[in-house]
Amino acid sequence: MARAELMDFDQALELFEPVIGLEVHVELNTKTKMFSAAPNPANSEFHVAEPNTLITPVCLGLPGSLPVVNGQAVQYSISLGLALGCSIAPSSRFARKNYFYPDLAKNYQISQYDEPIAFDGSVEVELENGRTFTVPIERAHMEEDAGKLTHVGGSTGRIQGAEYSLVDYNRAGVPLVEIVTRPIFGGEADAPALARAYVSTIRDIVLSLGISEARMERGNLRCDANVSLRPRGQEKLGTRTETKNVNSMRSVERAVRYEIQRQAAILAKGATITQETRHWHEDTGTTSAGRPKSDADDYRYFPEPDLLPVVPTPELIEKLRAALPEPPAVRRRRLKGEWGFTDLEFQDVANSGLLIEVAETVAAGASPAAARKWWTGEIARLANASDQDATGLVSPVHVAELAQLVDAGTLTDRLARQVLEGVIAGEGSPAQVVESRGLAVVSDDGALIAAIDDALAAQPDVLAKIRDGKVQAAGAVIGAVMKAMHGKADAARVRELVLERASGDGA
Ligand code: ADP
Ligand code: MG
Repeated sequence: MARAELMDFDQALELFEPVIGLEVHVELNTKTKMFSAAPNPANSEFHVAEPNTLITPVCLGLPGSLPVVNGQAVQYSISLGLALGCSIAPSSRFARKNYFYPDLAKNYQISQYDEPIAFDGSVEVELENGRTFTVPIERAHMEEDAGKLTHVGGSTGRIQGAEYSLVDYNRAGVPLVEIVTRPIFGGEADAPALARAYVSTIRDIVLSLGISEARMERGNLRCDANVSLRPRGQEKLGTRTETKNVNSMRSVERAVRYEIQRQAAILAKGATITQETRHWHEDTGTTSAGRPKSDADDYRYFPEPDLLPVVPTPELIEKLRAALPEPPAVRRRRLKGEWGFTDLEFQDVANSGLLIEVAETVAAGASPAAARKWWTGEIARLANASDQDATGLVSPVHVAELAQLVDAGTLTDRLARQVLEGVIAGEGSPAQVVESRGLAVVSDDGALIAAIDDALAAQPDVLAKIRDGKVQAAGAVIGAVMKAMHGKADAARVRELVLERASGDGA
């Protein structure tokens, strides 16, 4: 694949105004699917399942099978609509979106079209640099997910070059809400960061509502990023591309930035942008052409004849409104007070998109300072190094356990970092990794003293220096002891003991 020509980002911004539009699909974590009693793999209870085991005749579109709407999914969708500041339709309807795909057994997807359940909302988004935006929401509608294809035999996992493909219908019929923004103006050079912050805010909202696991690496939250450019001073919107299924927050930002640079290079040459979907390539950080897509794509939408309109009572809507959790902006202010962080410390957490992780880690028993340190420090570093989001790397409960092991003196920071690596590698909980890798600190003074006495005996010159008051000379002995203990000792305690032994009669 030929590499696309890119324009320098700053230069692109001088010539063009970027306009973005974001479509976020949220998989709801209801027990059962959107239109059948099959277990829902987007609920973590059923996440691990053999292919084609979480299915009913409805998921397969077998003749005679009929859909039944999942009331819980409707309630979750209303709650989400309300949290997005949307109006809730007194009556909304499902529609058939007709198209063929092997993982869509019915040959149509049940979705909502001209009558979505929620419409006309807005979301407050705060960027890392402190800028705030109001992102206008056009609609949030309910639909069902399709199954999953696995292309086998090729090198890329894509259909090109594959020998055969496998279909797993477990995901077919998983309840989805698709949230669609209006075109977002004014992002300018912050447009990529704004896209990322928006997805992060949606994630915060669905997590605080408890309606989705929201794990991007599992596809619980997927973003399609629309990007267009228009020459400065031009009113008419430029032609957009839609980069599909960008599966991490970091990638959303990179994909928008890449499209701005790619489109700018094309437009500057006087050529035109093709309205099309594009694929995001995580490894190369580039997009490539998917299928052409016009606004008039004819899916032959028509009202789903097998389902009644969704008519929630005003009482239900008000009950759900009253039960809404505090909005992310309000929660941020509250947590900042509770944790006693400085502005800078709090920004550090908020900017990293790890507020919920830190809050959950504190709730699981870690101190706010320790929770912040682990998430924005070592975990963020490991995530960065492996090109992943920190959010999916390790569970808050495990981080809290790790922090508690450090507090209890079972682990030094250095050992705890090794334990963390083991936990991330899937070796179990921190306690299990400590056990299996034998990483606990040697807290038995007897063992430490024996090693110290050996080291002092081996380095009589150092011993003399310490006795002479040159305390910094102790470093050599401490180093030898730490080495003898394979790093599994608390260096501060070793130091204390070295000075004690050097000055006493014991040595
Ligand atoms: P589609 O069926 O193509 O997915 P949707 O209406 O679901 O269309 O979503 C299109 C998204 O693209 C919306 O977020 C919309 O605001 C945005 N959008 C529309 N036109 C433009 C444009 N010219 N530039 C950037 N974004 C756009
Ligand atoms: Mg769409």
